[in-house]
Amino acid sequence: MMLFKKKEEVFDPYTVEQCNRCNKDSKRKFKEGDYIFKMTEKCPSCGNGQMMITKIFGEVSK
Ligand SMILES: [Zn+2]
Repeated sequence: MMLFKKKEEVFDPYTVEQCNRCNKDSKRKFKEGDYIFKMTEKCPSCGNGQMMITKIFGEVSK
């Protein structure tokens, strides 16, 4: 099977975390082992909440 080769684009993976208390979200570079609904760290904003990964996506890097 012949594959039509398009111009190659490189995607950078990103992870979005959200606090379950204050709903503050933050975007950072994807790290090995990240997955949706994974609890990560204490919220740096309110100090009480728990940050949870809500989204993982790729952005075309420039
Ligand atoms: Zn918070």
